[in-house]
Amino acid sequence: MILVTGGAGFIGGNFILDWLAQSNEPVINLDKLTYAGNLDTLKSLKDDARHVFVRGDIGDRELLAKLLAEHKPRAVINFAAESHVDRSIHGPGEFIQTNVGGTFNLLEAVRGYWNALPPDRNTAFRFLHVSTDEVYGSLGPDDHPFTEENNFEPNSPYSASKAASDHLVRAWHHTYGLPVLTTNCSNNYGPYHFPEKLIPLVILNALNGKPLPIYGDGMQIRDWLYVKDHCSAIRRVLEAGKPGETYNVGGWNEKPNIDVVKTICSILDELKPRADGKPYVEQITYVTDRPGHDRRYAIDASKLERELGWKPAETFETGIRKTVEWYLANQDWVQNVTSGAYREWVSKQYGSR
Ligand code: NAD
Repeated sequence: MILVTGGAGFIGGNFILDWLAQSNEPVINLDKLTYAGNLDTLKSLKDDARHVFVRGDIGDRELLAKLLAEHKPRAVINFAAESHVDRSIHGPGEFIQTNVGGTFNLLEAVRGYWNALPPDRNTAFRFLHVSTDEVYGSLGPDDHPFTEENNFEPNSPYSASKAASDHLVRAWHHTYGLPVLTTNCSNNYGPYHFPEKLIPLVILNALNGKPLPIYGDGMQIRDWLYVKDHCSAIRRVLEAGKPGETYNVGGWNEKPNIDVVKTICSILDELKPRADGKPYVEQITYVTDRPGHDRRYAIDASKLERELGWKPAETFETGIRKTVEWYLANQDWVQNVTSGAYREWVSKQYGSR
């Protein structure tokens, strides 16, 4: 049994689907179902006893203690977070509450549980914290990609809150001996991505004849990883990572945002041409840049490759094609999440919070 937090989100949802496709080990999924949580992603597990969903907050220590005592997981994997940089600029409070306060409460609940385990607890249990490359700040054009040795220099409320959570996780290992692992990953893309993020937003706006917004000059560089490759890295780190260590996860796929958008446009031109026969790039519109927008992120994943033998299965070209194909084939998921029908279902099912 493993306990996953934030498993109704983009990466956590993909992780649970992959986990249960590859193993019979059950998963408890604790998720608050914020606007970003979507149980539709896990619809195929509706009648699957291996997936136990619990709506709740990682800040709720009492609930966590109860779940841990009842299910006795051998691992806790923390995906739960507020994750959208733009939202963190307009309302940083939630980010501090969940990413910092929530992680603290989760660590304390896990520490209580781990302390009470039999003497083999350091090999029998692991806490894996999922984090981002944004904690390292921004790179200049000629800088080497981030390694695990880079200093933390977060620039947005989101990355600052994630950096704080990474520090807490590190401290709980050094101070209390909790067997923790941290992964810092580059930008993910793929199926079930909430349509406020760049790649799904561009696909959906293109199909709906809307503008394709590009911040500033579009030359901000991000390093992209197909979400299933992130999931395989997390499984590998959970299996073989050394407690107390952090592992950078990335696919060596640095791309300026404008190139990502143009690639999506050309795949759509091929798979779903516009009714008027014109290319989708005509919909590109430049908008005012985000304040404090980091120029370049890039990950050096060689520690994970060298020490744990992990490699991504997709290149950017194969992964982005799969992603566009997935969005074209799963318009019902998209409709549900964008029309508000899903939020209505959540408040009927769980009451509004
Ligand atoms: P997401 O926003 O899609 O999902 C987050 C999930 O956490 C949602 O289901 C939400 O309901 C849940 N949640 C939020 N607050 C909660 C709380 N207090 N208690 C319980 N559940 C709560 O995010 P994502 O893109 O899937 O990211 C998952 C993790 O991976 C985050 O920690 C993020 O920082 C990290 N990460 C994301 C990326 C990326 O490109 N998306 C890259 C690297 C790391």
